[in-house]
Amino acid sequence: MSTFSPHPTSLDILGEVFGYQAFRGPQAAIVDHVVRGGDALVLMPTGGGKSLCYQIPAIARQNAGYGVTIVVSPLIALMHDQVGALHEAGVSAAFLNSTQTFEESSALEKQLLRAELTLLYAAPERINTPRMKDLLRSLNERGKLSLFAIDEAHCVSQWGHDFRPEYRSLSLLHEMFPNVPRMALTATADALTRQDMVERLKLEDAAHFVSSFDRPNIRYTIVEKTDATRQLLRFIQTEHANEAGIVYCQSRKRVEEIADMLASSGITAMAYHAGLDSSVRQQRQDRFLREDACVMVATIAFGMGIDKPDVRFVAHLDMPKNIEGYYQETGRAGRDGLAADAWMTYGLQDVVNQRRMIDTSDAASEAFKQVMRGKLDALLNLAEGTACRRVSLLHYFDETSLPCGNCDNCLSPPAVWDATEPARKMLSCIYRVQQASGISFGAGHLMDILRGKQTEKVVQYGHDKLSTFGIGVDLAEAQWRSVLRQLIAKNMVRVDTEAFNTLQLMPDARQVLKGEMSVLLREQVLAGKSGSAGKAKESKRSIKTSVKGLAEAALNTGALERLAKLKTWRADIAREHNLPAFVIFHDATLRAIAERAPQSLRDLGDIAGMGVKKLEAYGTEVLRVCASAE
Ligand code: ADP
Ligand code: ZN
Repeated sequence: MSTFSPHPTSLDILGEVFGYQAFRGPQAAIVDHVVRGGDALVLMPTGGGKSLCYQIPAIARQNAGYGVTIVVSPLIALMHDQVGALHEAGVSAAFLNSTQTFEESSALEKQLLRAELTLLYAAPERINTPRMKDLLRSLNERGKLSLFAIDEAHCVSQWGHDFRPEYRSLSLLHEMFPNVPRMALTATADALTRQDMVERLKLEDAAHFVSSFDRPNIRYTIVEKTDATRQLLRFIQTEHANEAGIVYCQSRKRVEEIADMLASSGITAMAYHAGLDSSVRQQRQDRFLREDACVMVATIAFGMGIDKPDVRFVAHLDMPKNIEGYYQETGRAGRDGLAADAWMTYGLQDVVNQRRMIDTSDAASEAFKQVMRGKLDALLNLAEGTACRRVSLLHYFDETSLPCGNCDNCLSPPAVWDATEPARKMLSCIYRVQQASGISFGAGHLMDILRGKQTEKVVQYGHDKLSTFGIGVDLAEAQWRSVLRQLIAKNMVRVDTEAFNTLQLMPDARQVLKGEMSVLLREQVLAGKSGSAGKAKESKRSIKTSVKGLAEAALNTGALERLAKLKTWRADIAREHNLPAFVIFHDATLRAIAERAPQSLRDLGDIAGMGVKKLEAYGTEVLRVCASAE
């Protein structure tokens, strides 16, 4: 680490360029460390403010003569907006990607070689080209390669949920340029992924900055799947009419179906998946970013790097693969800090499907599959659990916390019933059937036996003669499903997806069968019938209006009028610059302006989000717009 005293200071840059008064949480320490040339690993939840952690060092180091910062980002489709946002703030930045013409990239390369840029964004596959390596080498020889910032760094790990093989080539950075500081940033990484990132990117000696992963404004709700499409529609119509949201589905086909269904119910909805032409994808993504109340129905191909601040909900219609994926996806809600929902519906079939995908993937080793199964089980435990969702989620990321009061389980604690008896019946039925027939059977057949149904198959195998035939008539099929799902979650039963989804007993089942362990299960909340669900909804509304209300209730009529005019003005500018409106000014900034009723440029300059460049470019106009509302 060299001794370094930047001028202006990082805090000056924060204020002048970005218009913010203070660093948030660990930002100050990270920026300080990186400005001085230290390596860093930064783990911060979505919306925590990672971008400034490399943008400010990039500016400080360029000012001090260290040259260009290279930002490695997988998000070609978003580079344009990211760079646009920097230009709005008066920072010299550019991106190099495959959408540019040869002439454009040659011109940029020249600019790069002159080290005129402060930040250059490029995808990992680009970094790995001989041409780019030459450019970097040449910069470095002249001491003009300041810093590598590797965004979405979890993509380097096969344990992460977004593994991108191109990220592996980034080992060339420390091999070719051991003298250039590196920082890796991600919003998600469990212990395994973290370790992998450190090894792959050679960050053993880097300082680690791990923030709390809590997103207190997000409410987590996980409901049992009864009729997923109807449940989703009801959720959007009652909780999020005319608001922006993302709906995640497992398959492309389902994405299309759900988008059509929502559209035919009068909701502005679009489909997004990897099967669509890239121009269609880009156009829909732009529309989602630029319009206020669009719902994007998508596979996980959508969302990384989407920094739209006012996404009010993220819904999962199918269960994701693991908690990291779930947390990353739900984290796209409520970046602006206002109330937002993470809502998921899931059922037994989801578990079976995910299990099958792991078991039948022939690309992976058995050890890998075992890790993936463990991760799926952790998610299943979260879904079936009766404790605070936030406590469980944060625990997964090695954080301890108290019950949050802002998740479904906290708001209406699920009733728990002693299901030891039904669990024993189910387990012994699986055992008897296996013993009698020498083969295993699937869930449907077992429930038929328990419930005493003389189906053709039951009679054919003589299962109506078993001692467990009809011992479960007292419970409805939905209840048996719940018992079974929870036995799977507790790892007492395994679904063998290589053998027709048959059910197998696991060693842990023995204790229950022997009466040494009791089983407490989540009470099945049947859709529409439960009083507690209604109660939850009510308290949810009141919390939501109180969080949202704070901002809006504070505005008087004059301010509301100014806000409306400012929004119209912002929309025009955004269109003119071909950028999303929030890149020009955030809602929060417009609201603060409307409230302040500024009379002078100096009044405006104090407002959060109003950097020097924006004040210069828009200040007079903003004053005029405010005055026109008087
Ligand atoms: P991340 O990349 O971690 O998801 P971003 O870098 O997009 O988060 O930051 C999230 C939001 O918080 C952005 O709108 C950003 O402008 C804002 N922000 C970041 N740091 C600060 C700060 N110190 N003060 C005020 N706002 C900030
Ligand atoms: Zn909670």
